[in-house]
Amino acid sequence: MTEFDVDLFVIGGGSGGVRAARIAAGYGAKVMVAEEYRMGGTCVIRGCVPKKLFVIGSHVKHELEDAKGFGWTIPPASFDWPTLVANKDKEIARLEGIYAANVEKSGARIAKTRAVLEDAHTLRLTTGEKVTAKYILIATGGAPNHGREIPGIEHVISSNEAFHLAELPKRIVIQGGGYIALEFAGIFAGYGSDVTVIYRGDNILRGFDEDVRKHVRTEMEKQGITILTGCTIDKVEKHGSEFTTHLSSGSSIASDKVMFAIGRHPNVANLGLEKAGVAINPKNGGIAVDDWSKTSVDNIYAIGDVTHRINLTPVAIREGHAFADTVFGKRPVQVDHGTIPTAVFSQPEVGTVGLTETEARAQFSHVDIYKADFRPIKATMSGRDTRVLMKLIVDGATDRVLGCHIVGEAAAEIVQAVAIAVKMKATKADFDATVALHPTAAEELVTMRTPTARYVREAAE
Ligand code: FAD
Ligand code: NDP
Repeated sequence: MTEFDVDLFVIGGGSGGVRAARIAAGYGAKVMVAEEYRMGGTCVIRGCVPKKLFVIGSHVKHELEDAKGFGWTIPPASFDWPTLVANKDKEIARLEGIYAANVEKSGARIAKTRAVLEDAHTLRLTTGEKVTAKYILIATGGAPNHGREIPGIEHVISSNEAFHLAELPKRIVIQGGGYIALEFAGIFAGYGSDVTVIYRGDNILRGFDEDVRKHVRTEMEKQGITILTGCTIDKVEKHGSEFTTHLSSGSSIASDKVMFAIGRHPNVANLGLEKAGVAINPKNGGIAVDDWSKTSVDNIYAIGDVTHRINLTPVAIREGHAFADTVFGKRPVQVDHGTIPTAVFSQPEVGTVGLTETEARAQFSHVDIYKADFRPIKATMSGRDTRVLMKLIVDGATDRVLGCHIVGEAAAEIVQAVAIAVKMKATKADFDATVALHPTAAEELVTMRTPTARYVREAAE
């Protein structure tokens, strides 16, 4: 007889929590998962999946426009937002069911409730029921963060609400220059909204390669998306069903919706962390963990967005899996957080892995840049004014490819495959030895022979 009700209690049925629960149960652990909202978490319910479905649907506008050059005459198309939302909801409900069924099939039990810590081994459920656990995994994810309290903040929506709007806004103002702002700018513009992006810095996508930032902005502007930089939203006023957004620059914009996508905060509030002695990382506000995802308390671990390390679904899944292997599988595994590929599903899409040019030049004394900026074959017939960017960053001393950055159609798909080579420490010579696959855009990656720029830092005297 164990002295605890369960071996593992997982708080949060999202990407990371579900993976950890299933793997731990597979090792024979008695597992309980508490989920206060819907099984599947952010990614499945109001993140990656519904977002990608919306993106795919909005691409149709571009396909219809491009069709003419290929001989198609298409009658005026019409679009129905409620149909899109209803079909998306149906698919998300199906996936939610699969997530719950998979957890149950693994032998873990789901409790549809909020759970909070009473002490290092006790959880309290909304019903008041208490459950004791040998190990606790905190996988509570994150939530939209609206920043400072500005007048009218109550009128502002986040990505959560954007997935459930009753109608497509004719005009929308979106604050933020990161993943969510740009992905939703492309989504709304694709379905026909007039979109204005407000970003506080000098250019969108801070942290991405400088050429990527410039390229994405230019391409989005070509599609008619207005991007205002160097300003923030100071006030939002509601007049009937319309809003007036006042900017720090002094100007104002009328719209039918105002959305903020200015980052997310880890779900650490009112969790009972202090009762259990779980420490917060002062640098990022997430739960502090070591390389094994262990918190300041020996039997409590935390994974995924609640640790605010790299907030991506595959990372949360890896961390959850590694935790279960380590604690229940007698197979210690640490997650390697280096060289993780990522994509922004803006339009055009960004795919990136490894170092940016700026990072490489700071870390390596000889950096070669290979860059191609070209008109994709489809545009030659569609007549669309668009260009693709492909960029490789190479360590000139070892010939190793340090980074790959792509902006254009299927960038995410291409980079997922290139990431294998970059992770394996492939050299530029390895890329060059690979025969091109023609005609593709990606063939540029193996045919760029001459560096477009070379940076050699003189050794210190
Ligand atoms: P979550 O998936 O957030 O799960 C946490 C769960 O815990 C939630 O279901 C929540 O309801 C539950 N919970 C919280 N507190 C409690 C409690 N006390 N008791 C019980 N349950 C609780 N990542 C990508 O890799 N690719 C993408 O394309 C992508 N697109 C995104 C688009 C959007 C709009 C957003 C918001 C995010 C996107 N992400 C994407 C990020 C990705 O969704 C997250 O990194 C991922 O979901 C994190 O998984 P998690 O398990 O840590 O947390
Ligand atoms: P991001 O961190 O990507 O972007 C936040 C943006 O808001 C930045 O442009 C930032 O500017 C700006 N910002 C931050 N604070 C303020 C403020 N107080 N006032 C005005 N602007 C501000 O966050 P998102 O909300 O877009 O997404 C959250 C996370 O979710 C992402 O970082 C990513 O990890 C994950 N995600 C992943 C996706 C994918 O994989 N495709 C898609 C969606 C989300 P600055 O750069 O100047 O700091």
